[in-house]
Amino acid sequence: MRPGRIYQNKQFLESILNEAGFKKNQLIMPIIIHEKRRVKGDGMMPGAVSDCKNEIFQAVYDGLDVGIDSFMLFGIPMIRNSKGSRALMNQGIVQRSTRKIRDEFGSRVQIITDVCVCQYNESGHCGITNYVGNQVENDPTTHLLSKIALSHAQSGADIVSPSSMMDGQVSRIRKLLNGNGFSKVKVMPFSVKHSSNLYAPFRAIAFNSKLRGKPYIDKSTYQISFSNRREALREIVVDINEGADIVMIKPTLTYLDLILMIRENIGDFPIAIQLVSGETAMIKAAAQQKWIDESEWIVQTIASAKRAGADKIITYAALDIANFMA
Ligand SMILES: [Zn+2]
Repeated sequence: MRPGRIYQNKQFLESILNEAGFKKNQLIMPIIIHEKRRVKGDGMMPGAVSDCKNEIFQAVYDGLDVGIDSFMLFGIPMIRNSKGSRALMNQGIVQRSTRKIRDEFGSRVQIITDVCVCQYNESGHCGITNYVGNQVENDPTTHLLSKIALSHAQSGADIVSPSSMMDGQVSRIRKLLNGNGFSKVKVMPFSVKHSSNLYAPFRAIAFNSKLRGKPYIDKSTYQISFSNRREALREIVVDINEGADIVMIKPTLTYLDLILMIRENIGDFPIAIQLVSGETAMIKAAAQQKWIDESEWIVQTIASAKRAGADKIITYAALDIANFMA
């Protein structure tokens, strides 16, 4: 008798996750909300919805039905401007969507919001750029980020998640939240966001027609170099000292060593990781060619991130994984 494994078998997939000690409540499901635009189903990027109550609610119900109660909102606005100021409007895409979800689902859901300006400004950079050389200006950007985070908290967010990699972004946000009565709102910075083209599928949908076709945006002056271990740990320690409640590392698959190293250095402090759009797209594309088994690869990816030390996992495959564990 040959002990062959049964692929696509739910028990087998579930056992991989169980052995790694992974629990469903560790999943965070991203919802990408497009303002006033119909979203065509995109197999590479699940989780995208239009700015319409029914679609947003359906995404949340889909998660709740399989035991996911934590949702991370990314907004894709219709209009960009030079300062990215629509990111902090009370009627902005994330603010409106947060209020809708909170009104409908109350405390049954945890709402996490992405706090950045790259979807809102004309440069596509994660900060305010100056007029010479398109350099990102750190301090005006952290000032803007703190105001965006406050507007998300006022709309009902439980956790704000600054993703622009500016120095001092956590302390500035923490201070403004505390000063406005939101000391219970948590801050989960993208602490170690590597400069990577694995974000390409997300960027492709995030860029409106004005930016589409624009060459690759070089964010290496503020995102982290993939080759520097000590810089990654330093960024984590700085964020913890500034008042972060959870630290985050992304992408995942080529950084498992860093996740482990950071886990070994910060004890029990919560670590989130994100399997970014390119990581999901690679798996899905290969599976479409029937070169690999999508379910097994997704599950092994999650198990490896958990094994390396991740507490929370943000993934476009959250529904699939929860289904394997149902
Ligand atoms: Zn950004």
